[in-house]
Amino acid sequence: MLDIQNFIDGSFTQAIDGESIDDFNPATAQCIATIPRSQSADVELAVSAAQSAQPGWTALTLEQRAVWLDRIADALEEKTEHIARTESIDTGKPIALARKVDAARSVSNFRFFASFGRQQTEMTFEMEDAMNYVHRSPIGTVGLITPWNLPLYLLTWKVAPALLMGNTIIAKPSEITPLTAHLLAETFLELGLPKGVFNLVHGLGPEVGQAILEHPKIKAISFTGGTETGRIVARTAAPMFKKLSLELGGKNATIILKDAELENAVEGAVRAAFTNSGQVCLCGSRIFIDESIAEQFTHKFVEKVNSIQIGDPMDEDTMMGSVISPEHLLKVESYIELAVEEGGTLLTGGTREMTGFTGPQGIGAFLRPTVVGGLSHTSRCATEEIFGPMVTLHTFTTETEALEMVNTSEYGLAGSVWTNDLERGRAFSEKIDSGIIWINTWLHRDLRTPFGGVKNSGIGREGGQWSLEFFSEMTNICVKNQETV
Ligand code: NDP
Repeated sequence: MLDIQNFIDGSFTQAIDGESIDDFNPATAQCIATIPRSQSADVELAVSAAQSAQPGWTALTLEQRAVWLDRIADALEEKTEHIARTESIDTGKPIALARKVDAARSVSNFRFFASFGRQQTEMTFEMEDAMNYVHRSPIGTVGLITPWNLPLYLLTWKVAPALLMGNTIIAKPSEITPLTAHLLAETFLELGLPKGVFNLVHGLGPEVGQAILEHPKIKAISFTGGTETGRIVARTAAPMFKKLSLELGGKNATIILKDAELENAVEGAVRAAFTNSGQVCLCGSRIFIDESIAEQFTHKFVEKVNSIQIGDPMDEDTMMGSVISPEHLLKVESYIELAVEEGGTLLTGGTREMTGFTGPQGIGAFLRPTVVGGLSHTSRCATEEIFGPMVTLHTFTTETEALEMVNTSEYGLAGSVWTNDLERGRAFSEKIDSGIIWINTWLHRDLRTPFGGVKNSGIGREGGQWSLEFFSEMTNICVKNQETV
């Protein structure tokens, strides 16, 4: 049982009013930690520490801050196993996945931004009689608010560029998954990161999260989470003219064109649907299949889904663990009931039973991967974000019809298109309303590329230069040439 504390001004400290919140392992239903239930007074302390640290951190050169990022990456890499185990017990995800995705990516976020920062060159614009150059300075103190599905992965994706560009940080992880953010703070303490540069305040979104949004000295908010919360973030921060990055929900499409290589498409569609129990914002939860291959595809897809080994997250062979919480399990189950009410057919899954689980069976928040056929693409199950191990299958007869079905969504984060004809795949992909499309692959990431959504999936982009731009202010300095005699 861990006693997690806030990390403010380089020290671990309880919330001022001493209240706490329990943190559970969703696979065993055991309470594993308590965290502070912080309020605005705790945010005030954190902001004050961050503001005091700002001049010293800004005074470092970009190269010096890049060296810090490399040191952090090295330190996290040494803790790979610790990160993976911690993330696994906090989220219920398989240890193998936590190692390969969460731990590895947290390291590479720091390493990538260190190297990317070093490659930056000054932007200049020559005139006949003058030269313009763009000077970048830090924004100041920034607020980072992150969700529970990829806790350290998504937090470090914001922390690394924010630090690199010279900002000081107030971070709030989801109260459901606070452990690896704490581990990151411990790592900063061990490394001797100047105090106040990174501050962590735990607690509930509407309390401590809201206090971060409202604080006048926090000049930018980088938020990843649900669309409804994103609306609150925008409503609060926009009138204060804070810089805003909103990475929100999705209802992503996987589109199987008639000439797709079937084995690859099945494999990719299953991975896109059920990685991390379907709890990745990029997961493909609506699958559109060309009518001419629908029967064959569906048969192979369901067969593959049935081979997913669900069970104890600590077992190295487990492919799917629990969902994030008992409350979330009930939410996904309510959509399964709704699917039947809406006239859908359960092709597999839909229940909590499973095989191969060696832990305390029946206790954790486990649900079999669920596939639903026969629903309209406009049904609630096919349009609302469920964010769990449930997908709906739909068929189309022409690509025009497929595009119309895909684009009816109010979301536009990501998607994948499966075809053997790359020209056709590109032409089709360019017509999808979406921030990211993969052709014949899924979640294939180059950290230099723009990451983010359109429509209700968010505003702005993260990654490479977009992250550096978000976490800095630009001043154009125009220097008139000296008159020569
Ligand atoms: P939430 O929107 O519920 O929460 C996200 C974060 O916001 C949490 O830290 C939460 O705190 C906090 N929060 C809640 N209310 C407020 C508030 N009033 N003011 C400030 N902060 C607040 O999302 P989930 O944690 O449930 O994560 C799942 C969602 O995240 C899904 O919709 C998913 O699609 C999306 N997501 C998007 C990604 C993208 O890149 N586009 C990537 C990953 C996930 P608390 O936990 O205490 O409520």
